[in-house]
Amino acid sequence: MRIVVLIKQVPETKSVKMDEETGTVIREGVESIVNPLDLYAIEAAISLKDQYGGETVAVSMGPPKADICIKEALSMGIDKGVLVSDRAFAGSDTWATSYILGETIKLLGDVDMIICGERATDGDTGQVGPEVAAHLSLPVASYINAIESFNNNSVSLSRQVEQGDEMLDVALPCLLTVVKEVATPRLPTLDGKIRAKAADIQLITADMLKLNPDYIGLKGSPTRVAKIFRPKVTRECELLFAKDDATIHAGVDKLYAFLDSKEAL
Ligand SMILES: Cc1cc2nc3c(=O)[nH]c(=O)nc-3n(C[C@H](O)[C@H](O)[C@H](O)COP(=O)(O)OP(=O)(O)OC[C@H]3O[C@@H](n4cnc5c(N)ncnc54)[C@H](O)[C@@H]3O)c2cc1C
Repeated sequence: MRIVVLIKQVPETKSVKMDEETGTVIREGVESIVNPLDLYAIEAAISLKDQYGGETVAVSMGPPKADICIKEALSMGIDKGVLVSDRAFAGSDTWATSYILGETIKLLGDVDMIICGERATDGDTGQVGPEVAAHLSLPVASYINAIESFNNNSVSLSRQVEQGDEMLDVALPCLLTVVKEVATPRLPTLDGKIRAKAADIQLITADMLKLNPDYIGLKGSPTRVAKIFRPKVTRECELLFAKDDATIHAGVDKLYAFLDSKEAL
């Protein structure tokens, strides 16, 4: 069995800033981490390998420094890391990104399962996983909260739906997007960190993928960020503090008067 986990490097959530002029994330000078929801995908892949054997591969598309997040996956127990990086990919939206990731998976060959996080904490679209499956014409199962069993032909899954869980069998190869309940991410071990430090990460560039240049980068991106802005808070809040009977009564009177004035409108 060969499992590919797609992981994205994202800015540390507390330091995310947007350029309101260009509509893009300001990445300079911001600490980067593995997309927190991808840690569950990594754990799901390693747990499957622990049970059934095989190979796990972490693939990330991003700038050269995204190798740090691949090393984190390796230190948790992923076997192999692949970085997909090229200046030609700059400006790619989710559709172009998933085309490039899909072609990378074709190049890797012999993949039984692709596991993605539910969504990335910066772009937050949740589109890349299902779009990769669409590019590869693979079945996709989203919001997976448990991987029950696995054989050479199919995988039995539990899927989170609004009022419970849905059980399903999906033919291999397939793509899953997983939610937090699927597994508890393990911490990197010292051995894992030493192995990750020494590991070679395979670099895949645009030339190696023989991509259609019309499908990548800004030119190949059918969507554009039209506008980005902070929502204005239009509600006003007044706090009424009360420390004794008199101030409680005064507060209640004020509240009554306020509600009366609204009813009159
Ligand atoms: C309209 C639009 C325009 C954009 N323009 C630009 C731009 O000009 N420049 C720019 O830098 N970015 C741009 N982006 C952002 C870029 O497309 C996204 O960073 C990328 O496609 C991932 O989308 P997401 O963050 O919504 O991931 P989601 O779809 O929320 O991620 C879901 C899962 O997919 C996998 N995944 C997502 N991205 C990757 C990745 N890169 N490598 C491996 N696995 C991944 C992970 O498993 C993740 O958990 C644009 C996005 C949009 C929607």
